[in-house]
Amino acid sequence: MKIAFIGLGNMGGGMAANLVRAGHEVHAFDLSAEALARAGENGCATHTSIRDAVQGADAVVSMLPNGAIVKSVFEADVIGHAPQTALLLDCSTIDVESARSVASDAAAAGYAMVDAPVSGGIAAANAGTLTFMVGGSAEAFVRAEPVLSAMGKAVIHAGDTGAGQAAKICNNMILGATMVATCEAFALAEKLGLDLQTFYDISSQASGQSWSMTSYCPVPGVGPASPADNDYQGGFATALMLKDLKLALAAAAQVGAQVPMGTRAEELYAAFAAAGQGGADFSAIIKTL
Ligand code: NAD
Repeated sequence: MKIAFIGLGNMGGGMAANLVRAGHEVHAFDLSAEALARAGENGCATHTSIRDAVQGADAVVSMLPNGAIVKSVFEADVIGHAPQTALLLDCSTIDVESARSVASDAAAAGYAMVDAPVSGGIAAANAGTLTFMVGGSAEAFVRAEPVLSAMGKAVIHAGDTGAGQAAKICNNMILGATMVATCEAFALAEKLGLDLQTFYDISSQASGQSWSMTSYCPVPGVGPASPADNDYQGGFATALMLKDLKLALAAAAQVGAQVPMGTRAEELYAAFAAAGQGGADFSAIIKTL
C-alpha cells in the first residue's frame, strides 16, 4: 500500500519504519527536518509538504502531539487533498471531541476515518508491539486492521468514532492512579520496616497486584527491568501522563462523571511536572512520597 505518514517523532518514527518493513511504500512529512531525515534513513520517501505526501495515498496515518494540531493538519492539508478513497487513521492521543469533529469533517467530504490511539511507549513503537484501540465504523475498522497490525501486537475495535480515544484516556487514568497508589504503598512499606523485595513478592501475588507493580515496578532493583532501574530515564514521561490525565478530566467534566482518583492523580502529576520533572518517567513520582 501507499501510506502517507505525518508526525515522525519519538513514536511515529518507529511506527513508520515498521510499515516500511512490512512492505508498504511510506511517504513521510514532519515539520522537524531531523525527524524527516531519520524517516528517510528508515526507508520512507520524504516530502516537503503534507499535500505532497498524501498524493495518491491509499491510507494516511498521523502521530501528532495534540487535538488542535490533528484538526489543523487534517482540515487544511489532508481532507480534499488525499484521494477520497484513502483511509484516514489518527494514532495520536487527543481529546474525544476533536477526534469526533475531525472524523465528521472527513466523513462529510467522503472519507472513512478512525481514531486509533496506542498503548505502549517508544520501545513498543520501535518493536511493532503497540496495542491499538480503534474508534470508527465496522467497515473502517476492517480496512484499518491490516495497516495497524504492521505496527502492533493487538488491534481492538473499541466502538464508534471517538471510542478509541475514550478507551485510551480511561486506561491511562487507571494507570496514573495505580502508579501513585503503588508508589505510596512502597513508601509506607519501607517506613513500616518491610523489605521492599519481600513486599513486592507478597503484593505482586496478592490483591495489590497491578500492571504498575508487576510490569513497571517504581522501585529500583525490584520486579522486572523498568525505568526505575535506569534512574527513571526513558519510559513514559511525566508530561505525557499529565497530558492524558488532563484529557480524562476534561472528558469527565463534559459528561458529568465523578473521577476522584483521577483528579488526585492529575494534581500530583501536575505538581511533579511543575517541579521540573516533566521529562522524568512517571514512576519517578515515588521520589516525592
Ligand atoms: P513527539 O513530539 O516526539 O512527535 C510528534 C511529532 O509531530 C514531532 O516530530 C513534530 O515535529 C511533529 N509535528 C508537530 N506538528 C506537526 C505538523 N503540523 N505537521 C507535521 N508534523 C508535526 O511526540 P511522540 O512522543 O511521538 O507522541 C506522539 C503522540 O503519541 C502524542 O499524541 C502522544 O500523546 C502519543 N503517545 C506517546 C507515547 C510515548 O511514550 N511517547 C505513548 C503513547 C502515546
